[in-house]
Amino acid sequence: MSQHERPLFEVYPALRDRLPWTPLATLPTPVQRLSNLGSTEGIPNLYIKRDDLTSPLYGGNKLRKLEFLLAEARRRHARTVITAGGAGSNHALATTIYAAKLGLRTALMLVDQPVARCVGTNLLLDRHYGARLCKTSLLAFPLRLVYVGLTATDWRRLRPPYYIPFGGSSPLGCLGYVNAALELRKQVDDGILPQPDYIHVAAGTMGTAIGLTLGLRLARLQTQVVAVRVTDKRLCSRTKMSRLASRTSALLTSLDPSIPAVTVSPGEVTMLDDFIGQRYGQFTPEGMEAVRLMAEQENIRLEGTYTGKALAGALDFIKSNGLQDRHHLFWNTYNSADISHLVRDMDYRDLPRAFHRYFRSPCQDLDTAWQEPAESQMSQPTNP
Ligand SMILES: *Cc1c(COP(=O)(O)O)cnc(C)c1O
Repeated sequence: MSQHERPLFEVYPALRDRLPWTPLATLPTPVQRLSNLGSTEGIPNLYIKRDDLTSPLYGGNKLRKLEFLLAEARRRHARTVITAGGAGSNHALATTIYAAKLGLRTALMLVDQPVARCVGTNLLLDRHYGARLCKTSLLAFPLRLVYVGLTATDWRRLRPPYYIPFGGSSPLGCLGYVNAALELRKQVDDGILPQPDYIHVAAGTMGTAIGLTLGLRLARLQTQVVAVRVTDKRLCSRTKMSRLASRTSALLTSLDPSIPAVTVSPGEVTMLDDFIGQRYGQFTPEGMEAVRLMAEQENIRLEGTYTGKALAGALDFIKSNGLQDRHHLFWNTYNSADISHLVRDMDYRDLPRAFHRYFRSPCQDLDTAWQEPAESQMSQPTNP
C-alpha cells in the first residue's frame, strides 16, 4: 500500500507528518444490502458495513484503532505493549497478533468474564501469538498495571512499555473510526449505499461509536449513531462518551488547527441501555435470536457478547420508533476470519492456572453450537 492511503490523510493532509500510523487493515471494508433480513423484518433499506473483513488474518473493529496505537508504540521505541480486557477479549487478541507482526511483545491484563467457548479459544490464541497473560480484577487493576509495567520495561535500553487502554479507546485509537466515517462518506459519494439515517453499533469502550460520531460530523453526513451498550455503565455511558469525544476532537485540532472542534453533549448521544442483559459477556435470548437471524437470512456470523446484542437493540429501536422506512446501516464489528485451527492441538494447561476455569467450567447455557457454523458457509464478498 502506498504511503498514508487513508481518507483521514486525504481530507487532512497536514496530519500525514504529525500522526503516527501504520497500515494493517484491508480497507475500505465492503458495504452490502441485507435484502433477506430487511424483508423479513420489514426494513427495506437495511445495509451492513463489514468490518468483520478488515483483515484476512484477524479482522473486526480493533484493527482500525491499532493502525494508530501500534504506530505510536513504535514511535516511542517501546519493546512491549500492555493492554487490558475481558478474559476472551477480541481487543487483547488483535493487539497481540498485530504487535507481533510489528516485532513488539504483548502483556495482557485480563479480567473475569462468563465462560464461553470463544473465551477459551481467544486465550489459546493469545498464547499462540506469544502474549504474556496476567489475570487481574478491576479493583486490583491500577496496582497490577504498575507491576506489569515495571516488569515489562526494558531496563537495559530504558524503554518503558506502551500502554493501550481497554478496547483501544484512547483519543488516538478513536481516530481509526473517525477515518472509518470518512471512508463511509466516500462510499456514499460513490453510490455504494444511500446516506444512512442511522448507524447501529455495539458499544463496549465506545471508541467505535465516538470515532464514528466525530467523523460523521466532520464528513457532514446527517447520520445518527445508535450505540447499543454491552458493558457496565462504569465503562460505557453518555457522559464518558461526551468526554472522550471532546478529547479526540481536541487531539485532531491540536495536530491541524484547520480541523473544526466538534462537541458531542451527553444529551446528543443515543445509547440503548436495555440489551446488555445480566452483564458483559453473558449472552441474552434476544441477542442469540439476532445471531441466528443474521446467520440464517444472510450467512453472516455474529456473536453473543457484542454484535448479537447490537442487532437485537437495532431491530427493536427501529420498530419501536417506527423508523422502518428510513435508511439503516448495521456496523459489524466482529472478526469473521476463523483462526481457531491454529490452537486445535494446544493444551490449556500450558496457560497460567488462573485461566484454567474457562476450559473446565461448563459454558453458559446460551453458548450453543449453531453459533459457529463452518467457515465455508459464510459469505465473503470481495472488496468493491
Ligand atoms: C471490542 C468490540 C466492540 C466494542 O467496540 P468499542 O470501540 O470498545 O465500543 C464491538 N464488537 C466487537 C466484536 C468487539 O470485539
